[in-house]
Amino acid sequence: MGSLYLVATPIGNRQDISLRALQVLRQVAWVAAEDTRTSGRLLKHFDIEQRYISLHEHNEAERIGRILTILGQGEDVALISDAGTPLLSDPGYALVQAVIAADYAVIPIPGPSALLAALTASGLPGDRFIFLGFPPRKQQARRSFLQNYSAGAETLVFYESARRLPALLSDVQEILGLDRPVVIARELTKMYESFWRGTAAAAVQHFSEAPLGEVVLLVGGAKTPPEPDLGAALATVQGLEAGGMALSQAVRLVAELTGLRRRLLYEKALQQQKQDAA
Ligand code: SAM
Repeated sequence: MGSLYLVATPIGNRQDISLRALQVLRQVAWVAAEDTRTSGRLLKHFDIEQRYISLHEHNEAERIGRILTILGQGEDVALISDAGTPLLSDPGYALVQAVIAADYAVIPIPGPSALLAALTASGLPGDRFIFLGFPPRKQQARRSFLQNYSAGAETLVFYESARRLPALLSDVQEILGLDRPVVIARELTKMYESFWRGTAAAAVQHFSEAPLGEVVLLVGGAKTPPEPDLGAALATVQGLEAGGMALSQAVRLVAELTGLRRRLLYEKALQQQKQDAA
């Protein structure tokens, strides 16, 4: 039985191709590519002669049958996109679903993606993030889309064409806030790679005209209120009690100030008193 390989290719710098990607691209029977001319040039650079199947968003459904037939004949297929990792804002999802449903193996060959290159070098937290791909093009739809993510603490990552960046930034400023940290990663892995860092308001000023090249926009998460510190709250309750206030009153006051539940604070304060008396 054949396998479908999902092969990541460079997002600019050809040297980012992995040894495993080259090996797989050499040995498969067919390469399914978004733009066979772009991919043909890349593979030629590495002296790889291949047979291509064109697979893009407008013909993916009809190509699935052909690729399943090839896999059924025991031949392997590699899927590549114009740049980076297939399926990341690129075609391939329907194909992968069909291949899994037909019980053939899907094998990822990891490598470059603008998403991870931008996120890791952005300086924004990368432990929790939401990848939002391309936001809606129409302003109204884009604003309600952003609204859905306005309260989360996660870093937000967007793909966008440089041409539409100023409009997106203006909505980010309005919906997510003037002070949100913003990073614009431009021309990653290429000669004019750059990172712009600042607030949403400053980004709107700086990118009032569309920049050149390809961009990834990253926006820092909403600031969530810090978790109330139970130890410090108990110390305050004790202090108020020592100053002559009744325990129940001290607990009520500190619960209001910190947002901690009154019952929890009361139980912990009693526990503390017992421990201190023992
Ligand atoms: N599959 C690709 C990946 O793994 O990153 C992304 C393909 S998506 C159609 C193209 C978008 O990715 C661009 O509009 C841009 O937002 C981002 N992108 C791709 N290459 C980039 C680069 N070298 N520098 C900055 N952004 C890039």
